[in-house]
Amino acid sequence: EREAALHNAHLPALTTDRVRIRVKANVSSVSVARLAAGLGADGSGLVRTEAVFAQWRQAPTVEEQTEVYRALADVFDPHQVCIRTWDAGGDKPLAFIDRPTEANPFLGARGVRTFTSDPGLLLDQLEAVCRAAGGRSMRLLFPMVSTPADLRMALDLLGRAARRAGLPDPPEGLEVGIMVEVPAAALRIGHLARGLDFVSIGSNDLVQYVMAAERGNPALAPWSDHLEPAVLGLIRHVADHVPEGVPVGLCGAMAGDPDLAGLLVGLGVDELSTMAAGVPIVKQRLRSGSVAQFRELAEQALSAADAAEVRALLERSRQHLL
Ligand code: PEP
Ligand code: MG
Repeated sequence: EREAALHNAHLPALTTDRVRIRVKANVSSVSVARLAAGLGADGSGLVRTEAVFAQWRQAPTVEEQTEVYRALADVFDPHQVCIRTWDAGGDKPLAFIDRPTEANPFLGARGVRTFTSDPGLLLDQLEAVCRAAGGRSMRLLFPMVSTPADLRMALDLLGRAARRAGLPDPPEGLEVGIMVEVPAAALRIGHLARGLDFVSIGSNDLVQYVMAAERGNPALAPWSDHLEPAVLGLIRHVADHVPEGVPVGLCGAMAGDPDLAGLLVGLGVDELSTMAAGVPIVKQRLRSGSVAQFRELAEQALSAADAAEVRALLERSRQHLL
């Protein structure tokens, strides 16, 4: 299977009933982007800008950012890149962002919340994205959106940034979306995502918040299993309730597990974004079944009692499909 995966890496991932699933890469630098493009990624579904600029002591200027975002877009051309705005906070410190000390950083001022009172850094970043897009097709992604007010703030700033760049609002070619990683956003997706171009499920944080189990804490592994039917059910809820025509991506660690690729498609996810190394094998696994088979698998997973039962089900289906 690995051999076939590498051999077919640059071909589209088509299910046996010929539905194309885009498999993109999560990137944190131009060199990772090159690696991902070389492995057949259909663009980038997540550029973690807080990681791209993690080593910077001072905030990059609009020009410095524009150059990097353009370089990333060039690497994946003609596929799209998706630039996520600063997702500082929680486990991700940024030297040039002032942050309060918080008792519970993961429940604190993360993602877009960081900029409610002081939007300067986000405004600069949005201007750079507008300039980098400059008429070409590109995506912009806001992290940790929980309420319509969060989204309004983000879109207002985007409008201001577009005007600063001398571009129409929204700039031509720029698609705008949100991360779905807070349960409130997932539950209200039908309202929240109206007028957006896409949404992307951040399963790492979604699992953390659904299960109330801090990500990255190994002692909490029994409670932070992304196969919990509660998590799968919420993913299905998002796919079922997102406004018509708004594609649903998923860019957490779940997207990189080939054993879950069919399940996620069966739950209604339209595209996946994973670490670069996972792209060929995830694509290959998607070629092993039809959307109808994946849906059947998802139905069974949703009626499982717990994560262990889902895992056993996936193991059986893998043996059946391969
Ligand atoms: C996620 O939360 O699943 C995600 C993709 O974003 P990050 O891991 O950067 O928080
Ligand atoms: Mg996240």
